[in-house]
Amino acid sequence: MAQTGSGTQTAAVLFNQGSDFKFIVQNIPIPTIEPSEVLVQLSVTGLCHSDLVLAQGLVGACRSVLGHEGVGRIVALGSAVSSYSSVTLNSRVGVGWLHDTCGSCSICLRESGRRHCLAQRNHGRHVDGTFAGYVVVNAAFVQPLPEGPPDEFLAPILCGGLTVYTALKRCGARAGQWIVLLGAGGGLGTLGIQYAKAMGLLVIAVDGGKEKEAVATKLGADVYVDFTEGDVVAKVKEASGGDGASAALVLAGSGRAYNEAIEMLGAFGTLVAVGIPKPGESLEVHPLKLIDLGIQVTGSLTGSLTDLNEAVAFVERGIVKPLVEVRSLEQLPLIAKEMEEGKISGKVVLKHRH
Ligand SMILES: [Zn+2]
Ligand SMILES: [Zn+2]
Repeated sequence: MAQTGSGTQTAAVLFNQGSDFKFIVQNIPIPTIEPSEVLVQLSVTGLCHSDLVLAQGLVGACRSVLGHEGVGRIVALGSAVSSYSSVTLNSRVGVGWLHDTCGSCSICLRESGRRHCLAQRNHGRHVDGTFAGYVVVNAAFVQPLPEGPPDEFLAPILCGGLTVYTALKRCGARAGQWIVLLGAGGGLGTLGIQYAKAMGLLVIAVDGGKEKEAVATKLGADVYVDFTEGDVVAKVKEASGGDGASAALVLAGSGRAYNEAIEMLGAFGTLVAVGIPKPGESLEVHPLKLIDLGIQVTGSLTGSLTDLNEAVAFVERGIVKPLVEVRSLEQLPLIAKEMEEGKISGKVVLKHRH
């Protein structure tokens, strides 16, 4: 078992944040913990698209150790972490995007509001993340995990699964209604198809190419629409009975996807923004479009701890089986480039060696 703050760990460290970023695998010291924190020895970490966005410098400064989908066990407890805490030494836990929040602002005090706190700190952004053997976590924010499911099925839920599951709840569509997932073949999309089907929704998967079609169909999408061929909006409307879909979740980081999504909606439809478009791209919509059809536009960011417990329960019951490719942390320099080129279907989970 690791000693707090002594020894070294293997980490994939970010250099040259920006368009020519790179990860270099090296040994760095194991961090020390404050009284309210715990040290988690990680067995795996998921790779999230936002890690790539951070590395590319598209959303401001970040740490050199990214990563926010970690699964592991607690190996050291801070002196102020009481025996009444929900976690203890050796507890199996998950580490997500939120490291901590101020806990006292008007946003934090709202139900499920903490993830919107303006003073929040995130793993990989303000404090080191999970692309290392160990991570320091605030004891109040560490997520207890069930013992049953394998590590590689739980890691993708901590950000990707949680995000898309919460967005599906937020979109308001009910069982039997048509929804559209734009970017259905990626990490969020492959999880989204499974959650949506488990929730009784009818799924139109939009992505590009035959490979993504095979993946989306295998996971249960009712209809696949290839955005590289023909009139995407017309095809989606036809598939959803002519009037348009009840909801569209934009998971792709593309302005085009946003502007097509709004056209795919029927009356009282909801567009949920999840993907971060490239610089200079945005959603442009005339207010009359919203007025005439009663359309709502909203956004969704990760989810609450309740949402996470629900999202994990689908995996525990075997209803959602994340499509994962397990690789090693040492391969991150290569994998990050593959992700940048859009070559990855499903989620990549990186194994840590100890
Ligand atoms: Zn706050
Ligand atoms: Zn993420």
